Amino acid sequence: MTLARGRPLRTMPGPSVIPDRVLNAMHREAPNIYDGELIDITGSVMRDLVRVARTEGRVAVYVSNGHGAWEAALQNTLAPGDRVLVLATGRFAHGWAEMARTLGVEVEVLDFGTERAADPGRVEARLREDREGRIRAVLCTQTDTATSVNNDIAALGAAIRAAGHPALFMVDCIACLACEPFEMDAWGVDVMVSACQKGLMTPPGLGLVFAGARAREARGRLSRVSPYFDWKPRFDPEIYYQYFCGTALTHHLFGLRAALDMLAEEGLEAVWARHRALAGMVWAAAEVWAENGHLRPNVPDRAHRSVAVTTVRTAPADADRLRDWCERQAGLTLGIGLGLGSGSATAANEIFRIGHMGHLNPPMLMGALATVDAGLKALGIAHGGGALRVASETLAAATAERPGLAVAE
Ligand SMILES: *Cc1c(COP(=O)(O)O)cnc(C)c1O
Repeated sequence: MTLARGRPLRTMPGPSVIPDRVLNAMHREAPNIYDGELIDITGSVMRDLVRVARTEGRVAVYVSNGHGAWEAALQNTLAPGDRVLVLATGRFAHGWAEMARTLGVEVEVLDFGTERAADPGRVEARLREDREGRIRAVLCTQTDTATSVNNDIAALGAAIRAAGHPALFMVDCIACLACEPFEMDAWGVDVMVSACQKGLMTPPGLGLVFAGARAREARGRLSRVSPYFDWKPRFDPEIYYQYFCGTALTHHLFGLRAALDMLAEEGLEAVWARHRALAGMVWAAAEVWAENGHLRPNVPDRAHRSVAVTTVRTAPADADRLRDWCERQAGLTLGIGLGLGSGSATAANEIFRIGHMGHLNPPMLMGALATVDAGLKALGIAHGGGALRVASETLAAATAERPGLAVAE
């Protein structure tokens, strides 16, 4: 027997749930790529993307996933032999660092572990030591999707300025653009990379790179940039096809247009607030599950947690069993553990992740939490009881229309 009928729910995290409106916008004939609607849509998508990033800067859209956006950001700002400082709070910062190393960039990693945010004080101190200004850029993730640590980008930007250091500030918002508050210009971010398949609710395939004025200047210093990744013609196209260095990404543009419409209709602040409220339900449930010690949210301090994804640690093998049960019995896909090994080769089986980014509402998320809760029971995995009640109370408190109304015992 399996109960997994109806719509499956993917909380992997990413690709996130794709709204019907986005899918429907993509279900159409190939358009004219020289004239008409597509050209107008492209301009409006570029305009709305920079609004979502809160920047007066520019955006380039690549046919790629997030890794392509990583590479594009590095290709346009750094030359072999340049040095970067990577603030690591999980697998994804290390991944970006490895890519920089492969491109001949000297990488220095400030490792903050896997359970807390990067410390702006340490970043400022390190930059103050760099008197000759050898460090060209500071790289970090806003949310690291493996650990679910969220970095305080405003504070890190302030630390770089406080050190009086000229390094570019480059931030990976692939997991959390349109989930976490993000203010590219106000926080002093020079380059931001993202992709369309998480908070932007569109099937994987678009890598996004945003650049402010200082980053665009840095491009001018380089003697050679990979022609496909070069952002210059994409920022200032003389002819339409330069936006994409070739055929336009027709159906992805239609899909992303629909997703951006949905974000604009909801309002970005409301989108952020919804993510915070939904994350609160997950945190409440995970903290109750943790009450007997075998299971715990990976990030102890709520202030360091992402509102887009939650990483949970279990006893060895339990996470694998739970993921398998949720998929098979319930049609719920949980995320696997990434780069959080405690030393053994099987450490990934001690971790599951719940993505809570994008097109989600309380019944979807309550369903996911109830399914995990039932899975823990069905598999005999020890956990604190009453998680769903606390998640429901958290939801009620976040949306209360009659504050103070007692919850019946
Ligand atoms: C998903 C993700 C990536 C990688 O994106 P791909 O589309 O898989 O290449 C990089 N960084 C972060 C923070 C992510 O969440």
